[in-house]
Amino acid sequence: KERTLGMIKPDGVSGNYAEEIKRIIVEAGFSIVKERLTQLDKETASEFYEEHSLRSFFPDLVSYMTSGPVLVMVLEKRDAVTDWRGLIGPTDAQKAKISHPHSIRAFCGKDSQRNCVHGSDSRSSAEREIKFFFKDVVSD
Ligand code: ATP
Repeated sequence: KERTLGMIKPDGVSGNYAEEIKRIIVEAGFSIVKERLTQLDKETASEFYEEHSLRSFFPDLVSYMTSGPVLVMVLEKRDAVTDWRGLIGPTDAQKAKISHPHSIRAFCGKDSQRNCVHGSDSRSSAEREIKFFFKDVVSD
């Protein structure tokens, strides 16, 4: 089995979508192995998204990601990375509503920034992102 990092972003948590999203996750065959509600500060959000640090939207991305708590989860199933990316849908939630109407971003995202959820885009980023959020957590 494979693990990936799933995150319900601030708009998803404050919009009260977390329970429904977790229901969709379990329904799709994932186990939620670990979860943690956490408030990102500027430094942590910038480090998490450092690959985007030169993009024009980076300052907006950091203020969005620090605007309220996020729920981070370790999700496990066979092909977890690919399957979770498929379940969340494309980055731009407006486009998701048209091309992937059953995706999570179509359901609770607003636009290309406030897209409700995050998923690791490869096995190597999954490994990095799981360590990023769960390295101090004891047990499995
Ligand atoms: P994530 O990494 O959060 O799962 P993604 O891989 O679909 O999303 P990326 O291109 O990695 O998308 O962008 C990271 C995040 O930056 C997006 O999820 C979104 O919140 C924000 N973002 C991306 N593109 C834009 C944009 N053009 N304008 C504003 N925000 C954007």
